[in-house]
Amino acid sequence: MLDYRRFKEINDLFASSQPEKARRLLMEMQSRCIALRDEMSMLKVRLQTFEDILYLSQNLYEEYGFYWLRTAGIKQGPFCPHCYESEGALIRLEKQHKSLLCPYCSTSYKGTVRVMTETAEPLAGRQARILPFAK
Ligand SMILES: [Zn+2]
Repeated sequence: MLDYRRFKEINDLFASSQPEKARRLLMEMQSRCIALRDEMSMLKVRLQTFEDILYLSQNLYEEYGFYWLRTAGIKQGPFCPHCYESEGALIRLEKQHKSLLCPYCSTSYKGTVRVMTETAEPLAGRQARILPFAK
């Protein structure tokens, strides 16, 4: 923590013609400020990491043996189960012939390409909601 009474102390040292003592105290305050700023940056990074983990825990789910991510109501994926379980990395699988292939670990999930088409949002199922006019 930064002790704000030190600023008054510095002011008092200048007022009582002790500029060297005031300057030393000012330099001490400066290095404490820099240390606090570094700590704050590190804490911001940690906070962002925890927010990302929380977001994933709320929106990542397993279906058909693959990982999927729900973002703004849209289903993203499928993601490579091997990469997620071994490194925590979300690598989107790519369609290759009748298989899904991980571009990172090169694992091929054979005969699984239908997972992508079966799980796509059905357009026919969507209907516009008709709102009656207010009277
Ligand atoms: Zn992978």
